[in-house]
Amino acid sequence: MSGTGVNLGALAEFNVAVVLDAIRRHPSGVTRTGISALTALSGMTVSNVCRRLVEAGLVIEEAAPARGRGKPPKILTLNRNGGFAVGVHIDPAVITYALIDLSGRVRERIRTATPTVQDAEGVVREMAAMLDALLLTAEIDRGRVLGLGVASPGPIDPQTGVVLNPPMLPGWHRVELRSALHLATGLPVLIEKDATAAVVSELWFSEPGERRNFAFLYYGTGFATGVALGGAAVRGVSSNAGDTAHIPVDPTGLMCDCGRRGCVGVVTAPRTLVAEAVRAGVLTERQAGDTTDSLQVGSAFGLLADAADAGVPAAVEILTVASQQIARALVVVVNLLDVGEVVFGGPFWSRIAPVARTVLPEAVRTDPGLVVPHGIRFSESSIPGDVAAVGAATLVLDNAFSPRPEALRIGTTGESAGRFSVPFSTP
Ligand SMILES: [Zn+2]
Repeated sequence: MSGTGVNLGALAEFNVAVVLDAIRRHPSGVTRTGISALTALSGMTVSNVCRRLVEAGLVIEEAAPARGRGKPPKILTLNRNGGFAVGVHIDPAVITYALIDLSGRVRERIRTATPTVQDAEGVVREMAAMLDALLLTAEIDRGRVLGLGVASPGPIDPQTGVVLNPPMLPGWHRVELRSALHLATGLPVLIEKDATAAVVSELWFSEPGERRNFAFLYYGTGFATGVALGGAAVRGVSSNAGDTAHIPVDPTGLMCDCGRRGCVGVVTAPRTLVAEAVRAGVLTERQAGDTTDSLQVGSAFGLLADAADAGVPAAVEILTVASQQIARALVVVVNLLDVGEVVFGGPFWSRIAPVARTVLPEAVRTDPGLVVPHGIRFSESSIPGDVAAVGAATLVLDNAFSPRPEALRIGTTGESAGRFSVPFSTP
């Protein structure tokens, strides 16, 4: 495919991003005059920017469907095939690869078991092969992929692209994922904590002004929160903000790795709840399997959730107590950040949700420790399926096109990561 050589670096100007954002948020099309009104940019600026976007193949301009007499106005729509992004979510049990188009729609998805890393090179080779398979299945030319986003359990170092030593990924210690993946795939690579990737994704897909201040509760093999304040993801000094796993919620609870008792991350972990289900007679030892194996925990947790769905009292009780404990941690989070909304998601959320939905909001609202004087909205992630994988892919779009100035600054431009200057081809 021949490129016209339009440089994203040159495109990544504020006005361009603002116009593109206005267009992508109007899937049925918007006129140049409409964009002017939406963005407060002059007609001249909008016209110039639109021309460049059309030339770059990111936007299509065509006559609106005819209505009555007169010449129909020209409207601009996003060219959803104008570019693609790949997201990879590394979970202790599975790795999910998602290919999204410019509109954010998932075009293809692959899941594989997470390799136990003794040899990081092997993992990177496998990930590169999966990426090839993904593009092949979707019939997408690699030249049209803007970049690769990686969502990993924390802690990470996004500047160097190193996955430090996530507690749930034994064997993953200082894996230099970003540079290795960049070398193996030739694509620019971004890396972010899973919960933060989820936040970026929620912001990207929500209506302007709809979701600005919220905490994202990420319930997976590990427990994490992501935070958005003022419409932007909160990353902190080292991009590891939001680690709430060590908030104590049960003084007599299980001992945590940190040496304290009853941290929310350990007492509500799926593997802990599976072990409780065995003690309570909800699951047999055999059904529970090996509670140190993330895949087996996943299926055993599914059985526990099925039992709760079927109304088995001991199963409902286990998930109720866990929901109350999560609520206690959320009270701390809401007090600390003064957010008005909590969004739930993550790989295991849907399984605990039927019980949590009935228990958790009330437990937060009636907690005597809740200080904020306003109501709190509880909602579920707007991203279907694996929010972190889609979130990881969204990182790429957000980095390239977000009209928020700080999004242009996250650590993508290190030498090892390559720059976001992808030649576009006009379809
Ligand atoms: Zn702890």
